[in-house]
Amino acid sequence: MLLSQRITHLNTNGTDGWEVFVRARSMKAAGLPVVELTIGEHDIRTQTDILEAMHVSAMNGHTGYAMVPGTDQLRDTIAKRVSLRTGVPTDRDNVLITPGGQSALFAAHIALCDPGDRALYLDPYYATYPGTIRGTGAQDIAIQTHSRDAFLPQQALLDAAAPDAKSLLINTPNNPTGVVYPKETIEMIAGVCQRHDLWLISDEVYDTQIWQGEHVSPRALPGMAERTLVIGSMSKSHAMTGSRCGWIIGPKEVIAHLIHLATHTTYGVPGFIQDAADYALKQGADLEVDIAEPFRRRRALALKVLSQQALLRVIPPQGAMYLMLDVRETGHSGSSFANLLLETHNIAVMPGESFGRAAAGHIRIAMTVDDNVFVTALQVLCDFAQSLGK
Ligand code: PMP
Repeated sequence: MLLSQRITHLNTNGTDGWEVFVRARSMKAAGLPVVELTIGEHDIRTQTDILEAMHVSAMNGHTGYAMVPGTDQLRDTIAKRVSLRTGVPTDRDNVLITPGGQSALFAAHIALCDPGDRALYLDPYYATYPGTIRGTGAQDIAIQTHSRDAFLPQQALLDAAAPDAKSLLINTPNNPTGVVYPKETIEMIAGVCQRHDLWLISDEVYDTQIWQGEHVSPRALPGMAERTLVIGSMSKSHAMTGSRCGWIIGPKEVIAHLIHLATHTTYGVPGFIQDAADYALKQGADLEVDIAEPFRRRRALALKVLSQQALLRVIPPQGAMYLMLDVRETGHSGSSFANLLLETHNIAVMPGESFGRAAAGHIRIAMTVDDNVFVTALQVLCDFAQSLGK
């Protein structure tokens, strides 16, 4: 019996890029002490007061089907937050609550692209992007960026790909590179979208993790609110990865269609999760700053350790919870470096190749373990690189 092309072609080359991670997890399961600097998940858990809000909501009976578009309360809270932060008038009809940012990415591409349409995204990319696009039936078209340009997209390449395309997906602050697109880059991207009549999908799930520069949402630029879908999530901003609560913000007409899609796919997000998310968002920006703080701190620690060596080139992260290192001077690919490091020192990092061609020869380090463990692991990693370099 044949399966659909969509499901069998989700992963190109038969891999999903998570091999080192899976290997590290099985080493751990076998009892080895592995330091995991792989997955983008906080080392803290969801705060107890947020869990209490979830518990109270569930005990009060919010355990039945919730409203498919999301609760009025949470949609209003998100609309108000984004209006205040971007100046773009936004109300509940511009917001759909989704089970995490990941399903929002999928839904956004379903809304904008017909099967066969060209959907653009930038390489390096978050590992699920190509499969997410292919899963909708659209063609995934990666546009290269370069380490030498600090992984910022270049207008000529976008202009060349845009004429036949339907949508462009961007992500700032960026996973895996940690780059925060400056306003000029966002303006350049907005110009490309307007000139070529492209939809823009702006993945802003790391918007509360900015170490340098400022986050500019393209939806706030003139003429962009009507052609932009913003992807948001509670995962990174509030350490709520397992709660699966995210959203799409966009034009009301698009959201109305996406609500129909939600009716036919997810049928909404549990009410007690939404109430907890609403409670968490109402704690304001101070809580978001607190949750981001360990990454800010570890970024500074990492830059200090890495400044004591010259073999590994650092792309200093301006945002998000990751650090990219160019390991090419060791004579290894990102993948062989990561596999050897795991085998010899029980330290797991992600090969850049997991995030596309542009990140080949790099590794991505998630800053997601205790400060002391993190610094020691980085020192070991630097010594290991030196030993390879010789
Ligand atoms: N976008 C990016 C860039 C991510 O890194 C992630 C998660 N690692 C997501 C979207 C999806 O996050 P979630 O589904 O947990 O909201």
